[in-house]
Amino acid sequence: MTRSAPPDVARRIRARVEGTVQGVGFRPYVYRLACDERLGGWVRNDERGVVLEVEGAAGAIERFLARLPREAPPLAVVERVRTRPRACTGARGFAIAASAGGGSAATAPVAADSAPCDACRAELLDRADRRFRYPFINCTDCGPRFTIVRGVPYDRALTTMAGFEMCAACRAEYEDPLDRRFHAEPNACPACGPRAVLLDAAGSSVAAADAVAAAAAALLDGAIVAVKGAGGYHLACRADDEAVVAALRGRKHREDKPFALMAHDLEAARALVELTPEEERLLAGRERPIVIAPRRRGARVAAAVAPGRRELGVILPSTPLHLLLLGEAGVTLVMTSGNVSDEPIAFEDADALERLAGIADRFLVHDRPIETRTDDSVLRGPIVIRRSRGYVPASLALPGSPRALLGCGAELKSTFCLAKGGRAWVGHHVGDLRNWETLRSYRDGVAHFERLFAVAPEIVAHDLHPDYLSTAYALEREDVERIAVQHHHAHLAACLAEHGETGPAVGAIYDGAGLGADGTIWGGELLAGGLGGFERAGHLWPVRQPGGDAAAREPWRMACAWLDAVGEHPALPPTLRGEVAPDRWDAVAALVRTGTAAPLTTSVGRLFDAVAALCGVRAVVNYEGQAAAELEAACDPDERGAYPLPLGSGTVLDARATVAAILADLRGGATVGVVAARFHGALAEATARACAVVAGRRGVDTVVLSGGAFQNRRLLERTSALLADAGLRVLIPRRLPPNDGGIAYGQAAIAASALRS
Ligand code: ZN
Ligand code: ZN
Ligand code: FE
Repeated sequence: MTRSAPPDVARRIRARVEGTVQGVGFRPYVYRLACDERLGGWVRNDERGVVLEVEGAAGAIERFLARLPREAPPLAVVERVRTRPRACTGARGFAIAASAGGGSAATAPVAADSAPCDACRAELLDRADRRFRYPFINCTDCGPRFTIVRGVPYDRALTTMAGFEMCAACRAEYEDPLDRRFHAEPNACPACGPRAVLLDAAGSSVAAADAVAAAAAALLDGAIVAVKGAGGYHLACRADDEAVVAALRGRKHREDKPFALMAHDLEAARALVELTPEEERLLAGRERPIVIAPRRRGARVAAAVAPGRRELGVILPSTPLHLLLLGEAGVTLVMTSGNVSDEPIAFEDADALERLAGIADRFLVHDRPIETRTDDSVLRGPIVIRRSRGYVPASLALPGSPRALLGCGAELKSTFCLAKGGRAWVGHHVGDLRNWETLRSYRDGVAHFERLFAVAPEIVAHDLHPDYLSTAYALEREDVERIAVQHHHAHLAACLAEHGETGPAVGAIYDGAGLGADGTIWGGELLAGGLGGFERAGHLWPVRQPGGDAAAREPWRMACAWLDAVGEHPALPPTLRGEVAPDRWDAVAALVRTGTAAPLTTSVGRLFDAVAALCGVRAVVNYEGQAAAELEAACDPDERGAYPLPLGSGTVLDARATVAAILADLRGGATVGVVAARFHGALAEATARACAVVAGRRGVDTVVLSGGAFQNRRLLERTSALLADAGLRVLIPRRLPPNDGGIAYGQAAIAASALRS
């Protein structure tokens, strides 16, 4: 029996809408919806979101409330609508009322940046439109948001657009509730908004009627051009010119880390890589991430773009400026972060001109400042590898804690996470915290998010590792309680919490390194537990890591350690002759034997290093994770075999048998492709078997696969399939990276759980 009023009885209700509902065209949307349902009332912003009252026939109000979340504008995220009845006033007509005073407790979320919408793209290419070829066109459905916000409430005066006074035409659009640009804070046009200019290598402006066209012409001639994007500077050059790409590598001091490519549209992207329908949807989505996918045979891309890889990272134009540039150039461009080596991407104009001076021949810049540096986000298969522009600062649910929290993250791929009242805001990818410049943006980022989302953390969760700068940051925060969280437990918790679960589950957490509860280096862990706690139920066979961190840069050292573990007198293997001097090898073998400067590790990342080195794939890496990525790329796609990898007592994955089998195969003349594939098979099978054993013993049916090693698509897919075959439910990280980019959120989830109990 229904208790709702008969459909034609007059009613009035007040509704509070929470979520990302400001700066996304929500009020005009409500206005149109109310008019459509012939309802009277009003709508306004306040510090918590949007408040509205509607009055009219009960049936119309019901339809209005049902449509409200369903038909919301593209950038809006409606998290909650709460209604209560009000007395009818009899007033007709609907109005957009002035905002209620901001106050200090502003929590209405700021949206993420969005690629140009269809309507803006059409205007951009329409000769008759007043914004024809205007590189900064935007509306309430698209454009910059997070990268230009200086404070809240989200209002033009508190963005980097504050210095641009709207012309009469723009102002009229901005003030018209029925216009697509009603309260579009970055609204601009050629008469009143930002302008693009082209500078030469010395920073002097190059006379050109159309800066973007001139930049495209320079690119076609083989120039390297620094391009100011939404979240920072990129370095661009033609992707099909071997010499130019090699020159970019040389000047950037980036030896072989793959470059991303920008294609003009989906069709151009399809000529470069093989895309699933889902990948096409993500590639063309308004978040505009880089999607890494298998390279298409015959793709016209220089070999120097992605040496040693079978995949390419592709992105479509993320701003109108990029759209014009690619349209004008007519070729695919390398679009890589504007930095030298591992420094953070440049985003401030003076700094960019200085730092990129020796690299770029031209600078395509503009006068709209970037407030927050954000890198391009990166996706691969089902996994987010880097979460930044387009996704940040969208919030995630986090089981509620009574108090405000900060998770400080780890050291590499750093992010931070603020949480309160059941929501968590994970910061943009900051990068390697061992760099002073990165540490500064980390501190600034935390402070910025605290203001934007009005979170004043009382509890600070950090990694167990005392030497991480994120831990040092946690220790210097005043007037807070601190919780130390084990690294791999945080990986497990992040994945569970993202899926709205608390455990118990079995976690296979494989990565490069994290400080274990026993003081040794962990990285190949089978954990049993959930947000409330964990036990170490098993792990990879421990070996020495000769030289500590040096072994992460020099995989051959791990080859030496594993040879010693299998009882071979570690003589320099033939595949490493010419790569490693015999006396250095002997010195490292001595460290392994004596244990001097050679801590024990169970790291799966270091096992990958050892195998890559033994195969002759890579003896020394130029960036983190390179050996494992190249070993994956080397796999023979047709090889389905697997080496033995037995489970020892205590559920120890005894990879000594695996390494012995690899040595035998290599001596027997097996190809690297076959060896690499069988190694992946061994690890996937052993992991699935071990998880099933632990799950059976503990009576749980859920397995979490996480940690940076699961960025490896072959390992992830094989392991997931085997676990599913065994009747287990598999959870993998979807919204946050499996690498250390997910740690801060996991720390916050564990702290919230501890506070609840
Ligand atoms: Zn638009
Ligand atoms: Zn204007
Ligand atoms: Fe990790």
